[in-house]
Amino acid sequence: MHTIDTIYIDGAFVAPHGTERLVLVDPATGKETTTVVLADEVDAQRAIAAAKAAFAITSQASRAQRMAWLQRLHEEVQAAESEIVAAMVQEYGGTMAMAVGTARRSAASFALARKLLADYPFERQVGGARVTMVPHGVVGMITPWNANTGFIASKLAMAIAAGSSAVIKPSELSAVQTEVITRALHRAGLPPGVFNIVTGRGDTVGAEITRHPDIAKISFTGSTAVGKAIARGAVDTMKRVTLELGGKSPTILLDDADFAKAVPIAAMAAVMNSGQACINGTRLLVPASRAAEAQELAVQAFRNLKVGPTSDPDVAVGPMVTEKQWERVQGYIRKGIEEGATLLEGGPGRPAGLEQGWFVRPTVFGDVKNDMTIAREEIFGPVLSIITYRDDEDAIAIANDTPYGLHAYVFGGDLARANRVAARIVAGRVFVNGLYDEPEAPFGGFKQSGIGREFGTFGLEEYLEPKATMGYDTTL
Ligand code: NAD
Repeated sequence: MHTIDTIYIDGAFVAPHGTERLVLVDPATGKETTTVVLADEVDAQRAIAAAKAAFAITSQASRAQRMAWLQRLHEEVQAAESEIVAAMVQEYGGTMAMAVGTARRSAASFALARKLLADYPFERQVGGARVTMVPHGVVGMITPWNANTGFIASKLAMAIAAGSSAVIKPSELSAVQTEVITRALHRAGLPPGVFNIVTGRGDTVGAEITRHPDIAKISFTGSTAVGKAIARGAVDTMKRVTLELGGKSPTILLDDADFAKAVPIAAMAAVMNSGQACINGTRLLVPASRAAEAQELAVQAFRNLKVGPTSDPDVAVGPMVTEKQWERVQGYIRKGIEEGATLLEGGPGRPAGLEQGWFVRPTVFGDVKNDMTIAREEIFGPVLSIITYRDDEDAIAIANDTPYGLHAYVFGGDLARANRVAARIVAGRVFVNGLYDEPEAPFGGFKQSGIGREFGTFGLEEYLEPKATMGYDTTL
């Protein structure tokens, strides 16, 4: 069994003060793989002190220096691609496509931040005032287990570009992914303390980051419930917060869409990352006049999904991350049946031949009403709810009738009409007629899907604050 018994503080791998041991289990087999010694509050305090000392360096580092750091980080993370992929597949059962995509995005984050930094205007004149965009101070970063390396990379890249230092608390369920990326980041040879990585529990390390006065900002990705707790805690010291939270995203099939093309894409949107992605399109809104056709195609698309261990690159749906998450998904499938939705495909229990591990049956429900639990709550598993609508107005109303607002998908034959519908959906991102990857476009949610945006210029500015100086000598 693999043991992880160090954390990363002030440029060195050190034994944590914390002593709690957590055993990680391969979700595809249920077998124990790794023992992790978890950090505690004292470790968090040490990491914060190291980052605070390093802020004196990062905040004064020239643009060229920060660009050079980002370039080195990019190269080292890029070189670790195969290790990151292997860790994601083994640790949480990430599909091969997801793992490769995440590993590449992780490396690209640093290159993109470097590109942005090359000509970002940190100083501008506003009337008689000189406005300077300044970094907040030490940034606390708290990440979830799904695509953990991607979140660490995108947050750290922007913080460094802005001139901040960081304390990173990855999910305790991501210790192996974290170990791999920490080694890669360490090899980049940045000054000690610029980033510190402490794997521990949310209610210890995460809570310390939330309350500590020397943390100026928190960038959090995770569930809405935890995001709210962090926002409440952060207000006492008036920390800035960026929160990337959950979703219950709608996919609208307009009545002029090519269903044969659109539904398989909608199915992918529903199950990407085995249904464990914040952006999954889990409510499929179909016109009542074409409901039977949409249901049949959705069932077919779900039947075609290969379920199994994700070491097989053809597998589209891997296991749920933990037994607890498996139970949660089972509970929602039972709830859907109890509340009167029609089970069209899948259902409770494990798929045939996959009796070990935390595999669920990709499940499609028809006749779902938007007020049913399975249409309102984030399930975080491969469960699709098909909801019928009368006309475009009704579709828009149902799409927006949710506490979330992270993402949406619209499919239609008439692009101008599809765009008009997209414009009225309250969501941070809308994909029209496909799945896209635009790493420089802002990412984040409206309503209870979060606060703030990541990526590109909007993402960088989440790590900066404007400061106006008047009486400034503009001849200098
Ligand atoms: P989670 O909220 O349970 O945990 C996220 C992180 O918060 C972990 O590191 C955890 O240890 C920490 N944490 C837990 N309690 C804490 C506390 N009291 N104080 C501080 N930190 C605490 O989420 P998860 O199960 O790891 O991830 C799945 C969730 O993340 C889903 O809801 C998903 O939608 C969301 N997510 C959102 C995005 C996005 O960009 N919007 C991306 C991926 C995942």
